[in-house]
Amino acid sequence: MDFTKYIRDVEDFPQKGILFKDITPLLQNPEAMKSAMNGLLKMVEHQKIDKVVGMESRGFFFAPILAMRLNAGFVPVRKSGKLPADKISHTYVLEYGTDTLEMHSDSIQKGDKVLVHDDVLATGGTASATCELIENLGGIVVQCNFLIELDFLKGRNRLRPYKIASLLHY
Ligand code: 5GP
Repeated sequence: MDFTKYIRDVEDFPQKGILFKDITPLLQNPEAMKSAMNGLLKMVEHQKIDKVVGMESRGFFFAPILAMRLNAGFVPVRKSGKLPADKISHTYVLEYGTDTLEMHSDSIQKGDKVLVHDDVLATGGTASATCELIENLGGIVVQCNFLIELDFLKGRNRLRPYKIASLLHY
């Protein structure tokens, strides 16, 4: 099943000049979802995973299902101020300004093997900040796993120490 036709290009979102890859048509189609999920699982085959970390907010669509299928726990990484319990933060630089991501302090145990998942790898800022949080808690990043990689933004370079796997490249 070719699920790529369920990824919609939206021009000038969220800003003029950006061609946004919208995955909501894919989420509406169970066969397309199954096919994408199987592809994501295949990329991490034969590797022991204790936790799947998904990033707010579009990482939350697939990461909990991936975790369930891998018999691992799901851990959310959220934007500043959303998580209720004791947490750690990491601030990173964007094109204009900064952003902060947070994770609960008890969500990763020392030595946990962690799969990082998000829908899209763009500049790599979100994923590299997430890896930083995981490592600060003593976790080991086994792979950063994406549905879509925007090759021209070279996010891969920012994630150089990690194994990266993307289902689709644009
Ligand atoms: P980065 O930090 O790699 O620059 O951006 C990745 C984050 O922005 C991801 O959390 C992703 O959800 C979001 N993102 C950036 N560009 C797109 C896009 O074209 N489509 C979607 N669905 N998300 C995007």
